Amino acid sequence: MTRPRFHRILLKLSGEVLMGDGQFGIDPATVARMAQEVKAARDAGHEVCLVVGGGNIFRGLAGAAKGFERSSADYMGMLATVMNALAMQNALEQIGVDTRVLSAIPMATVCEPYIRRRAVRHMEKGRIVIFAAGTGNPFFTTDTAAALRAAEMGCDALFKGTSVDGVYDADPKKNPTAKRYESLSFNRVLSDDLKVMDASAVALCRDNNIPIVVFSIREQGNLASVLAGEGVATIVQTQEN
Ligand code: UDP
Repeated sequence: MTRPRFHRILLKLSGEVLMGDGQFGIDPATVARMAQEVKAARDAGHEVCLVVGGGNIFRGLAGAAKGFERSSADYMGMLATVMNALAMQNALEQIGVDTRVLSAIPMATVCEPYIRRRAVRHMEKGRIVIFAAGTGNPFFTTDTAAALRAAEMGCDALFKGTSVDGVYDADPKKNPTAKRYESLSFNRVLSDDLKVMDASAVALCRDNNIPIVVFSIREQGNLASVLAGEGVATIVQTQEN
């Protein structure tokens, strides 16, 4: 078997993706479809780990705007990511994929604590590792957690599954002439403030030379095709092609 270009990847799924067409919470059918995407990538020979967001349930900033103290609101947001992680684990196990949830906030009765070496071992054994509770620190986001875990796990790329098929120079839903970038440099994303991921996540990927692949997770089988070098995506890397 030829080694895939990106052998070990981290997939970031925002909470928004998990709510499907709903306005809030977890849509079981969408979660089941995400699990199929992950399984297809694993079956194609890739090692996959996941970071899930929590914005479909609770966002710290929104909580703070309503009067919660910011750190407490952020901890609530991190707990929301644990719910999403358990939902993904459940969906993956229902289709026979061995999965472990590792939380940055220890929660021994619910899942394993995050221990880097243990996470690596799980991946080497072919298990899908789901990182929950972000970085475990308030004032951060799950984008930054994704970049951090990708670096710690020695991932070859960070895949960001969204509802659009890459990064555009304008909002493609509002502007039909918007142009999709094939590739972009980390520095351009930062200097032009392009909405790919948080600036801290992009900087962490840049400093550790981890490409960010932005693609649509909405079409069935798209993760596996983008991994195979087919399909539409924008790649953010050191050099712009
Ligand atoms: N959060 C945090 N520290 C982290 C990761 C997440 O405090 O390291 C909190 C923060 O309040 C955030 C919420 O968890 O709003 C949910 O995460 P995020 O907004 O990144 O989820 P997504 O937008 O990907 O659904």
